[in-house]
Amino acid sequence: MKICFNQATTMKNSNLEKDLKYCEKAGYELLEIRLDKLRDYLQEHSLADLADFFKKNRIKPYAFNALEFITFRDEEGYQQIKDDLKFLCEVGEKINCKKIVVVPTFDVGDYTKSEIKEESVRVLNDLADTAEKYGVKLAYEFVGYPNCSVNTFGQTYDIIETLDRESVGLVLDCFHFHAMGSRIEDLKNADPEKIFIFHIDDAEDLPVGALRDDKRLWPGEGTIDLDLILKTLKEIGYKEMVSVELFRPEYWDWDIEKTIITAKETTEEVVGKYFEIE
Ligand code: ZN
Repeated sequence: MKICFNQATTMKNSNLEKDLKYCEKAGYELLEIRLDKLRDYLQEHSLADLADFFKKNRIKPYAFNALEFITFRDEEGYQQIKDDLKFLCEVGEKINCKKIVVVPTFDVGDYTKSEIKEESVRVLNDLADTAEKYGVKLAYEFVGYPNCSVNTFGQTYDIIETLDRESVGLVLDCFHFHAMGSRIEDLKNADPEKIFIFHIDDAEDLPVGALRDDKRLWPGEGTIDLDLILKTLKEIGYKEMVSVELFRPEYWDWDIEKTIITAKETTEEVVGKYFEIE
């Protein structure tokens, strides 16, 4: 299992240059790059600088985060998504980063699950038509909030399975999985090839539907049954990568290097019980 760092974990005070430096130093194999951090970086650096860094170092880019709220958009909003997609595909080509996280929309109104599925399939197919031209894959990330239109593993898997397209899979984020009570049976029945990205984290002990991203904790320090998720992933044959992703304001205020090291150590301790760390 390759260990990856998601830039959300140091979102407030760091930038791409610092995250790259400290992640390489800490021995991460992979990085998930945030779109906003990428844009900031390109204000003062070139894409060639970024490509050069990855060429000279061990750490490699794995995915971009994220195209947000892709479904139920008006024309202008959707055009922005398409423009961002094209931008990320073009950057991805230069630095060999071939996955993009895509997120469903919140507060869409009284749509039924089948209408949400239909809209998700329609939009994902349209975006995949573009992404595939660049060899890029899309990972649909459900969010474990009651007001997100796609908020459980089972609902997401059903969409991805219906879509049945090699270039479209999903993100399994332990926090989102736990937060809306996704069923472990649904993960047990999943094809590991459809899990494009695995986000690890933990959470404070709040009831179903009450958790928000700021309540994330370091892996192993909260109440999510990570052992069960990891054991199940091993059973179904998933073994690609694990990306540590927190959004906790308290950790954002820590020294950046300390945050990056703690993220890796806590992840390895939890994941190492089930998987060999590469
Ligand atoms: Zn996530």
